Amino acid sequence: MSYFLDVILPLPLERYFSYRITAAEAGMIQLGMRVAVPFGKSKIYTGIAVAVRENIEVAYDIKDIEFVIDEAPILQKGQIKFWEWIASYYLCSVGQVMKAALPKSLLLESETIIQRNEETTVEDDELTDQEFLIMEALENRKAMKVDEVASLLDRKTVLPILRNMLSKHLIILQEELYNTYRAKTEKYISLAPEFQDEDALRELLDSMTRAPKQREVLMTLFMMRAGDKPVKSKDLETRSKATRAVMKSLIDKKILLETEQEVSRMLMDRQTGHELYELNDAQEVAYNEIKTAFEDDKVCLLHGVTSSGKTEIYVKLIEEYLVLGKQCLYLLPEIALTTQLIGRLQHYFKHQVLVYHSKYNLNERQEVWNLVLDAHEPYVVIGARSALLLPFADLGLIIVDEEHETSFKQFDPAPRYHARDSSIVLGKMKSSQILLGSATPSLESYYNTTIGKFELVELKKRYNNVLMPEINMIDIKEKHRKKRMTGHFSDTLIEAMTQAFKNDEQVILFQNRRGFAPIMECNTCGHAPQCPNCDVSLTVHQHRGQMRCHYCGYHTFIPKECIACSSTDLDTKGFGTEQIEAEFLEIFPQRKIARMDLDTTRGKYSYEKLIDQVENREVDALVGTQMLTKGLDFRHVSLVGVLNADAMLNFPDFRSHERCFQLLTQVAGRAGRTEKRGTVLLQSYNPYHMILQQVSTYDYKTMFKEQLQDRYQFKYPPYQRLIRITFKHRDYNTTLQAGEWFVGALNQIEHGVEVLGPEFPPVSRVRNLFNVHVLVKMGKTHSPETIKGFIAKVKRSFESIKQYRAVRCNIDVDCY
Ligand code: ADP
Ligand code: ZN
Ligand code: ZN
Repeated sequence: MSYFLDVILPLPLERYFSYRITAAEAGMIQLGMRVAVPFGKSKIYTGIAVAVRENIEVAYDIKDIEFVIDEAPILQKGQIKFWEWIASYYLCSVGQVMKAALPKSLLLESETIIQRNEETTVEDDELTDQEFLIMEALENRKAMKVDEVASLLDRKTVLPILRNMLSKHLIILQEELYNTYRAKTEKYISLAPEFQDEDALRELLDSMTRAPKQREVLMTLFMMRAGDKPVKSKDLETRSKATRAVMKSLIDKKILLETEQEVSRMLMDRQTGHELYELNDAQEVAYNEIKTAFEDDKVCLLHGVTSSGKTEIYVKLIEEYLVLGKQCLYLLPEIALTTQLIGRLQHYFKHQVLVYHSKYNLNERQEVWNLVLDAHEPYVVIGARSALLLPFADLGLIIVDEEHETSFKQFDPAPRYHARDSSIVLGKMKSSQILLGSATPSLESYYNTTIGKFELVELKKRYNNVLMPEINMIDIKEKHRKKRMTGHFSDTLIEAMTQAFKNDEQVILFQNRRGFAPIMECNTCGHAPQCPNCDVSLTVHQHRGQMRCHYCGYHTFIPKECIACSSTDLDTKGFGTEQIEAEFLEIFPQRKIARMDLDTTRGKYSYEKLIDQVENREVDALVGTQMLTKGLDFRHVSLVGVLNADAMLNFPDFRSHERCFQLLTQVAGRAGRTEKRGTVLLQSYNPYHMILQQVSTYDYKTMFKEQLQDRYQFKYPPYQRLIRITFKHRDYNTTLQAGEWFVGALNQIEHGVEVLGPEFPPVSRVRNLFNVHVLVKMGKTHSPETIKGFIAKVKRSFESIKQYRAVRCNIDVDCY
């Protein structure tokens, strides 16, 4: 009798691969275990066992597996079924889903790059001979592929050795290098030594009768102080109700000393927060409606205005499921996974909170994977998109917060899945309840509530009846005409900011574009420096003295003269966050401003650091791109200024109006979240634009109705399904011809299905590759399975054409 094993490989292969195994292996291998297998001429991959079979007919030259990696499955029962659904719905391979799902440390393969872990020091005699050889090689070469280790040791199976070295922290996988850990610091206050004894202190207090606020701070410090230990600046500030300015004058006078100390992130996270709140009446009603929807096994959409207390409802639900011993999944867009929120949850649920997202390193991610797999306890996993692919057993509840966020859809590489939509399928498979939440639901989800597919639950007021911020429009065309603009700031905005600062409040400025100015243009010949790899102009980053490409990262110095005509009359057109920052400092030289955009938030904790700065009131203003919109909860922001609301309206995209509404409403929601009503000033050249009017009156329903009409008329989701096929190649003509060939072949597609293109998108060359799009639109009467099957078949024929072998062809189902 001979035995065979079907294996999923992390590759874009249409089917599972079969290998020969021994009878003993057949007896011990369980489905969902990893095996190392050879593939191609010399590669080794980690695969997943999916089926053991006896005596099958195989057409190709079948190989033996290398070895079995695990002693127990690393997947949950039924998990592969979900992978298979993603693969078939989004037209990719199960292997590609596997690759997206497994933390890389579970996926060692020939191409993996390893490096010495500089943080571990070992004596040579603690190493085995093989480990010694590898460490020595890494001393000289900095990095090596697994392949190269194999040839160094002259043996095929090096994965067990490397796995061992990984667990001993001798080596790291290259990706981890980017996770530079920065310790979190916090400011502490202590009394200067000369005032430490009581007499000196009394004398000091007596001398301060004319500065009652400063005196109050000292009294509070005296009461808070246990022994001579410093207290947290933030605590002292709140307890004494002092402003930062009062604190600062005491520090400047050297009466108080301020020091910065490292705090353990975990400890810190667990200390913040408060006990579980009682829900108020409105929340209680919403909560009961959600439960009723769950009893009917319906997906529930919670539409609650910003700061209405949605998160508290989630917390209450999570608590209930955890008590029942069920797992919970709390999905958020990557960038909304702030320490603010994580701290809040950890305070309630302690170690039962697991966090899973890309800024966590591989070890941390693998740890979460293992904990979820073992499920010794109920956990709530809070994570971005890919947390959906964790090995959940008894999953009771899935929450998708900020469900309108387009970043839930993976764009590249495959699987191009939508985490919200996929979570609904996972929920059906696992009998879990699903709650979607947003202050600005996607048209798709809201539409589903109108046709009875989802249940709608609403929270129309902010918690504590705090009023929604007042939104005022500022006509900047008018302001320019009357010469009331200072740079990009209108006099109205400047006045409002001045007032806010006087009241000791903070300001948020929104400009949906980073950098100093988008482009530099020659006033003599009109030339604008272009990226050599992409079809876009370079963006000026004054701060670094660079021009950068936002598509590929190419950068170069800012030229002194035009490279086309040598004229020195160069001008910058448009503006970004960096320029706003500079203009702000010209207008308010005494004030401090921080900037939040892709450039300032690259490091692991740099985003958190910015948030801390705002929370601790180290800055008066924060300027940022759309990152600002993601669920930030600041207590002292009373004013939000939008520098130019028009930029977002003019994108050639059927979702641009919807997105503009969502973005502006969310930014506006950052103002006045506690007690005092906030103000939002929207600067625009078109203050009477329909969407801006709807934003300023919080009229979601009208926006929804009007947009839905457009979607119907122009045949877009939710009425139609879209599939985009993209072709990429270095050569313009080849790319276009590939698209034309494909459109020709799709000719046979069902009657009534539209095939549009081939067409070059607005940015048609990226990283030296031309892009061509073909769009397939189908109505709800067509069977998506049939259409997708047909497209997949055409793709197979396409890939067998020699001329197009080098053309990349990607399919994006439900594209954005
Ligand atoms: P959302 O998620 O809708 O934006 P949050 O849940 O963050 O709103 O609530 C907004 C603010 O109101 C938070 O500071 C929160 O702590 C507070 N809050 C919400 N519900 C309650 C409650 N039942 N009791 C006390 N405070 C609450
Ligand atoms: Zn020129
Ligand atoms: Zn580029």
